[in-house]
Amino acid sequence: MRRARGAAPSLIVIGGGFGGLAAAIRLQAAGYQVTLVEARERLGGRAYQLKQDGFTFDMGPTLITAPELIEQLWQVAGRRMQDDLEIVPLSPFYRIYFEDGRHFDYWGTAEADEAEIARFDQADVVGYRAFLRHTQAIYERAFADLAARPFVNLPSFLRVLPELVRSGAASSVYRLAARYFRHPYMRMVFSFHPLFIGGNPFRASAIYSIIPYLERLQGVHFAMGGMYSLVRALERLFHDLGGIVRCNSPVEQILVENGRTAGVRLAGGEQLRAAAVVANSDVTTMLLKLLPAAYRGRISTARLRRAHYSMSCFLLYLGVRKQYSQLKHHTVFMPDHYRRLIAEIFDGRGMPQDLAVYLHAPTKTDPSLAPPGCESLYVLAPVPNLGHGIDWQREGPVLRQRIVRMLEEQLGLEGLEQHIVVEHRFTPLDFESQLGSWMGAAFSLEPTLTQSAYFRVHNRYGALPGLYFVGAGTHPGAGIPGVLLSAAVTTSLVMEDLPLAAAARIADASPA
Ligand SMILES: Cc1cc2nc3c(=O)[nH]c(=O)nc-3n(C[C@H](O)[C@H](O)[C@H](O)COP(=O)(O)OP(=O)(O)OC[C@H]3O[C@@H](n4cnc5c(N)ncnc54)[C@H](O)[C@@H]3O)c2cc1C
Repeated sequence: MRRARGAAPSLIVIGGGFGGLAAAIRLQAAGYQVTLVEARERLGGRAYQLKQDGFTFDMGPTLITAPELIEQLWQVAGRRMQDDLEIVPLSPFYRIYFEDGRHFDYWGTAEADEAEIARFDQADVVGYRAFLRHTQAIYERAFADLAARPFVNLPSFLRVLPELVRSGAASSVYRLAARYFRHPYMRMVFSFHPLFIGGNPFRASAIYSIIPYLERLQGVHFAMGGMYSLVRALERLFHDLGGIVRCNSPVEQILVENGRTAGVRLAGGEQLRAAAVVANSDVTTMLLKLLPAAYRGRISTARLRRAHYSMSCFLLYLGVRKQYSQLKHHTVFMPDHYRRLIAEIFDGRGMPQDLAVYLHAPTKTDPSLAPPGCESLYVLAPVPNLGHGIDWQREGPVLRQRIVRMLEEQLGLEGLEQHIVVEHRFTPLDFESQLGSWMGAAFSLEPTLTQSAYFRVHNRYGALPGLYFVGAGTHPGAGIPGVLLSAAVTTSLVMEDLPLAAAARIADASPA
């Protein structure tokens, strides 16, 4: 990693999730020499892939909601995304089943959505129009500006505070939905979106109500070949730009010299030197475990230990020798005791009494993901993270049985159990052991008002020059759009702090 005189200065990105890949591409395209070091065998992070016996499963994200943010990565590289990747719009976006057996198809167009809403409560059609106007205003006045700028000092945050307050940021997503919708099911449909990014709809800031607006604006998309084809395309793009990827290389420690970041030490002892390090690995694990103790601020350490972490997920990947017509590409099941379930997931002890599940049936869009006549089903149940006293070794198999029974009895997936030919699961313990997630949280810090923007872990680490964060735990937060925006914010800070000439001077001054 010693830089030859005249060559581009070296940067390291730790972790190949979407945030790390996007930051690596942006920095490499800007002229730095970037090495991406990944602990696991392959890149992708939460967007990993599992293949067995002709079944292909995406293990994490399945919905693309802001394709233009992905396209930007090809644009900064001077290329066209369409040449490397096929992203297709879905219609409907998803189907939501309720406990009474009825369902709601969400199409994302005014006419179709209003017709669906009218089937539940005609009065809510008017509420829906007002809800859309409100969320559009939040998007245009607060979100678009807020998400794309760094909040690394208090004045930068205070400047946007009045606009946030005017947008109703202090209210919750659920309260906003309840203001515009009368029917309890419509309140669920237009408030559950924070769960996509690990948030509690009853306390996530109403700013997050923009998610359904964003979906309507840009659509809900899927990458043909599975979401992992997006990971592969990003890896190829980075590689074509001259970036270096090292998998099976867990970082054990951040190196510090002369009061600034000097690189990383890998498990096994190898040291990689760099002018700056961008960490995409879990922010809390990084700050509490990989950073030398002298650089862990006492206040920030205490805050991170006390912080609220997002929920986790219990996932089943089921290869099924049958297809089910009642499923759409994305299908959600919501229980009547929605509020109780959310309270139990975020604040309870032990396993929740109720279940909400999300099913991914990608063969509805891309039949190549399972053998003919079969389904590569992915079932996700939001569950408490590891801080809630659940023994997952014991409870995991019990929950698995409950989920399969519920799918058979309540969603009518007849004979599901007997048609399963491939089965894997991913539990909160796996989020901790395989991804290094603090508390086994699926989405890092919970997105609450007091853990967002200036109050989230900053994109630039103030206590140690040359260390930056990108991904779900930093601003603006989790979700593919969130982490891609964080990559744009973080790389702009790196380039501001280390214009190429300055980065070169630092690299030249450091020992070989
Ligand atoms: C089940 C699930 C479903 C989701 N569905 C959606 C969806 O449909 N749409 C959407 O927009 N979002 C979705 N999300 C959220 C979204 O997937 C994540 O917020 C996003 O992918 C996180 O990206 P990240 O950049 O933070 O990195 P991560 O994906 O968290 O990757 C971090 C990487 O760092 C590596 N790493 C960790 N420690 C080290 C170390 N010490 N050394 C080297 N490498 C290390 C890890 O191995 C990993 O590869 C979902 C999340 C989950 C869990």
